[in-house]
Amino acid sequence: MMTTTADILIIGGGPAGAAAVWAIERAMPGTKTILLEARDRLGAGSSTASLENFRTCWPALCFAKQMERSVHVLMNADEYLGDGAKLSLSVKKRGYLFCGFTPAQAETLKRDVAHLHHIGLHHVEYLDADDVAYRFPWLGRSVIAAKYDPIAGWLDSNALIYAYVRSSPSVTVMTDVQNITIRMENNRVLGVTTANGTIDAPVVVIAAGAWSLPLAKASGLSLPLVLHPRQSFTTFWRHGAFPEDAPMLIGASPAAHVRPEAKDGAIFGWEYRWNTKQALPGAPVHEHLTEPMERIETLKDPRFPSLAQMMLARQFKHHPGEGFADPRYLRGSHNIGYYVARDATVAYRSDAMGNRTPYESERAIIDQYPGVDGLFMSVAHVGHGIMSSPAAGEILASRIFNLPLPDPAYVAFELEVPYIEYDNNAL
Ligand SMILES: Cc1cc2nc3c(=O)[nH]c(=O)nc-3n(C[C@H](O)[C@H](O)[C@H](O)COP(=O)(O)OP(=O)(O)OC[C@H]3O[C@@H](n4cnc5c(N)ncnc54)[C@H](O)[C@@H]3O)c2cc1C
Repeated sequence: MMTTTADILIIGGGPAGAAAVWAIERAMPGTKTILLEARDRLGAGSSTASLENFRTCWPALCFAKQMERSVHVLMNADEYLGDGAKLSLSVKKRGYLFCGFTPAQAETLKRDVAHLHHIGLHHVEYLDADDVAYRFPWLGRSVIAAKYDPIAGWLDSNALIYAYVRSSPSVTVMTDVQNITIRMENNRVLGVTTANGTIDAPVVVIAAGAWSLPLAKASGLSLPLVLHPRQSFTTFWRHGAFPEDAPMLIGASPAAHVRPEAKDGAIFGWEYRWNTKQALPGAPVHEHLTEPMERIETLKDPRFPSLAQMMLARQFKHHPGEGFADPRYLRGSHNIGYYVARDATVAYRSDAMGNRTPYESERAIIDQYPGVDGLFMSVAHVGHGIMSSPAAGEILASRIFNLPLPDPAYVAFELEVPYIEYDNNAL
C-alpha cells in the first residue's frame, strides 16, 4: 500500500481536471500536483461524446469573458501550452452560423446580435438573406437570416487534455485509481483514500464530471448537481454541397446542429428534452438524473440520428434522398455523455416576496466546497466544458491560491450566486 503526499490533489482527468493542473502550474510553478483518473486514460468522460466546438457569442458577461480568454489560449496554444500544442490541437476556426428560416426567427437573431454588440462582442454579425447567399451560396435560399460568430470552430479535445498535462512539469498523473474517497477531519481536507492506499494533501479538487456525484456521496458530502444525457452522431460521409470549410450550422428551434468532421464526415448534435420515463420505469419522471447510470450506453435513443437529420433536412428544405435527408448520413457512430448542471437549489430566480423559481443554468461551479477548508470543485460545465476549460482552470487556481479573480464577472461561478441575467441555453 502506498502513502504519498502532494500539495494539491485533483480528482478527474477530463477537461476540467487537466486544465486545473495547467493553471495551477502557471499560477504557482513547482506546486506538487497529483492528478487522479479512474480510467486507464485521461479524457474518458463526457468529452468522448462531445462535438469539441468552441464559440465566443455568449449573451451573459461571465461566459463572454470566459470564452474570450479561453479562445485566446486555444488560438495561441504554443505560447500557453508549449511548442507543438497548436499543431496537436488542430484548431479549425470555421465559425458558427445560427440560421433563421422565418421572419420571426430573423427578428430574434437580429435582437440577439444587437445585445451581443451591446456587451462588446462586435465581431458577431447579423446576416440578411443576401449576405447569407453571398457568403455561403451552398446553403440554399431557405436560410433568410443568420447570426454569425467568426471566432468559433472546433478542435481535438483529447489533444487539449494531454497538452495541459504535458505542459505542467510538476504534475504526477495516476490512472486506473479506483475507490477514491476524500478524507476530512474537523472541517479540513486531509487527502484521499484509494484502492491502492492513501494520499495526503492540504488541497483536494473535485473535477470528475458526472461522477463527482457518487464521489461526493462516498465521502459523506453532497453536490447540488443534476445530469442531462446528451447525444451526438458522427458520420463518415458528407453530402457534396456541404464543404469541408463550412461553419457549424445551427438550425432554428429545437436547434439540431451539424458541422463537417474531418475530410469526408459530419457530426450532428441536438439537445432535445429528455426524461427518465424509459430509463427508470416506475419511478417519478424527471428531466434529469441525480446519479450517473452504470452503463450510459443504455440511454442512447436509437431514433436520435434520424430525427436530428430529419429536422435539419426539413428546415434546409432538402427533399428525401438529398442533402441532410440522404440515407448515407445514417451510417456512423452514435455517442452519449452527460451535461452536468446546477440543480434547483443553486440556480433560481427570486421575486420580491422571496419566492424562488428554478431555471436551467449554464454556469459552472468553480468554488470552494462550503465548510471544508482546502476542498474545491470545478463541476457543472454543462455543454461547454472543453471550450471554457482554460479560463475555468485559471478561476480555480485563483480560488485555491486566494488570488484576485482574473475577471470580476467570474464571481458568477460561485456556488452561492443563484441567478445572473442571460444565463440560458443559446442552442
Ligand atoms: C453530446 C455532447 C456534446 C458536447 N459538445 C461540446 C462542445 O461542442 N464543446 C464543449 O466545450 N463541450 C461540449 N460538451 C460538454 C463537455 O464534454 C463537458 O462539459 C466536459 O467534458 C466536462 O468536463 P469535466 O472534466 O468536468 O468532465 P468529464 O469530461 O466527464 O471528465 C471527467 C473525468 O473524470 C474521470 N473520473 C470519473 N470518476 C472518477 C473518480 N471517481 N476518480 C477519478 N477520476 C474519475 C472520468 O473518467 C473522466 O476522465 C458536450 C457534451 C456532450 C455529452
